[in-house]
Amino acid sequence: MGEFDLIARYFKRPATRSPLGVGDDCALLAPAAGMQLAVSSDMLVEGRHFLSTVDPARLGHKALAVNLSDLAACGAKPLAFTLALALPGVDEPWLEGFSRGLLALADAHGCELVGGDTTRGPLNICITVFGEVPAGAALLRSGARAGDDIWVSGTVGDARLALEMFRGTISLRAEAFESARERMEQPTPRVALGQALRGIATSAVDVSDGLIGDLGHILASSGVGATLDADATTALISVDTGNLGREVLRTCALSGGDDYELVFTAPASAREAVMQAGLGSATRVTRIGRIEADAGLRIVDTAGATVSQRFGSFDHFI
Ligand code: ADP
Ligand code: MG
Repeated sequence: MGEFDLIARYFKRPATRSPLGVGDDCALLAPAAGMQLAVSSDMLVEGRHFLSTVDPARLGHKALAVNLSDLAACGAKPLAFTLALALPGVDEPWLEGFSRGLLALADAHGCELVGGDTTRGPLNICITVFGEVPAGAALLRSGARAGDDIWVSGTVGDARLALEMFRGTISLRAEAFESARERMEQPTPRVALGQALRGIATSAVDVSDGLIGDLGHILASSGVGATLDADATTALISVDTGNLGREVLRTCALSGGDDYELVFTAPASAREAVMQAGLGSATRVTRIGRIEADAGLRIVDTAGATVSQRFGSFDHFI
């Protein structure tokens, strides 16, 4: 099977929302009047972002999910995406599974595959997503103000627990591992919540490298500090962690990474509006801290005592 047959069989579908999709030199997009385009790229490299043994349908889902998560963090509505793919060879069962997982999530979000590039090489998946947001309404990292609450969506820490199971550093019961693994391999991008938070949240970021590190981007961009409740955050781990120690759980929840939840800030006067945004998008939202004028991040337990444990954040070059 040649390059063009492969594209035609697995990735070409009639464009329905975009004026022009796969098959010409460029795709054409038509954002509605008064909207800004929100654009983001994320690359997944075998051995670094995913294990070679992962189910291809789950990998297809995740490749798009991590990109949709960036749109969610900006409060943008997904429109379309492109797929740049390097493949070691033509493996039809793999392509069938990968495209099925990818396009199922795309359909669920009305996000159309409009183009890309396909080449031979070590397995590498790069997606660029395009979304739209009313001009000036995008959620940014720079809007947090002293006194704002810090919120997080969904659950955090599960993906890292699954990774540590794969690494053999911890042990979980089979059922707990299965659900943690699902959170790692098939994250849920919080697209509806992101849009519902427009005009309510003062800042937002999605959690890819770890909650503390990603919250740090908000603090730096906004020129503020914060206090974070380690216990309220660790309580958001959703799987049965058996007898794992507190330090391990805090590491997974606070700096685990790969959660693809939204961390956002909003004034205390908007608590009811935030809860409604969560209800309206069927997404749990939890208050885990407060923005303060003093620079730096202070991590405390429920009693308010300082947590002295050190936390890292994922960085590809450290
Ligand atoms: P060009 O040579 O003009 O860059 P290509 O020959 O690489 O175009 O691709 C042919 C068409 O197939 C283009 O419309 C391109 O966007 C699309 N395409 C290539 N690879 C993919 C892919 N993996 N997924 C979706 N569309 C793709
Ligand atoms: Mg090309």
